[in-house]
Amino acid sequence: MTTDSIQVALVTGKNAVTLEEFPAPQPGKGKAVVDIAYCGICGTDLHAFLSGEPYNPSICGHEWVGSVAAMSSSDNSHNIREGDRVAIGVATACGNCPSCQRGDASHCETVFAGATGMHPNSAPHGGFAPSISFALDRLYTVAPSLSDTQAAILEPVTVAVHAVRRTGIRLGESVVVIGGGPIGLLTLQAAKAAGAGHLTLIEPEPLRRQLGESLGANLLIDPRTENSAEVINAALGQAGADVVFECAGIAATIQTSVDLVRRGGKVSLVGVPNGASEIYGAVWLIKEVNLTSSIAYLNEDFEIAQGLVVDGRIQTETLHTKTVGLRGMQEAFVELANKPAQVKILVDPRID
Ligand SMILES: [Zn+2]
Ligand SMILES: [Zn+2]
Repeated sequence: MTTDSIQVALVTGKNAVTLEEFPAPQPGKGKAVVDIAYCGICGTDLHAFLSGEPYNPSICGHEWVGSVAAMSSSDNSHNIREGDRVAIGVATACGNCPSCQRGDASHCETVFAGATGMHPNSAPHGGFAPSISFALDRLYTVAPSLSDTQAAILEPVTVAVHAVRRTGIRLGESVVVIGGGPIGLLTLQAAKAAGAGHLTLIEPEPLRRQLGESLGANLLIDPRTENSAEVINAALGQAGADVVFECAGIAATIQTSVDLVRRGGKVSLVGVPNGASEIYGAVWLIKEVNLTSSIAYLNEDFEIAQGLVVDGRIQTETLHTKTVGLRGMQEAFVELANKPAQVKILVDPRID
């Protein structure tokens, strides 16, 4: 490897993470070079690793924080400066795409293309790298009070904030979260911050249930040994919760989320399931379910998410269970797949 190149970890196939050489990132117009401090391993990355399905290389490694090492001198219209600590976000709505033109800026196609790595300006690789050249309009400055490890988990906090905001949850409503992975545990906290009343977490792994309890869950259910509907209905004194978030990303729990909500309640699909789900349409109809699905986030969600972490209403440190270097990633993926006691593994490209 020369100094003109960097080593980047990519998910290259089923159960395969490999280090590949890329040209050292350059600060082109509208882009900054960011030296990565930490990049979190997301469920999406794990899905790519386990499925072997081809993923856009800029998607794996989309939860990072770092500092601006270089930018083009002509780029002085942005708020970002060299040396700033920054995290990955999305641009503001473009105003020009068909969605923006019909007045639906929250579904801006340019923003979504950026968030999914499909924008022509996307980086050639993700944040499992010592540095990355990244669109300036997708960076935001990290609050000084946050540690780098807290800041590396801001992106998944924003996913949770977006999902909760889309439900229109009301003060005091009872909430069930299915799945105690990082997104479930963050959604639980975001729902609480939004005013949720009674909070239930359904999660088979004991360590994750304990985390849920420490983060505010009132009722913990092990779906392997307990009947979730019976336990929830007994606790609430009514048939079904007001709001159910599906954060497990399992095909079967799509129907479970409707089974656990009250008639007229809200269901939010947050986890991305593999393959098709079997649903009972009559149950959905009879319950007059208000369904929202949620993917990624909007520019405004990042500021809200960071504010909630800064003031302590959303805890991220407790989710951070391990740190590895780029060479430790293969093992980290295997561990995440087999030991659900791991919650959020951060990759530090500065260590070997
Ligand atoms: Zn993610
Ligand atoms: Zn647009």
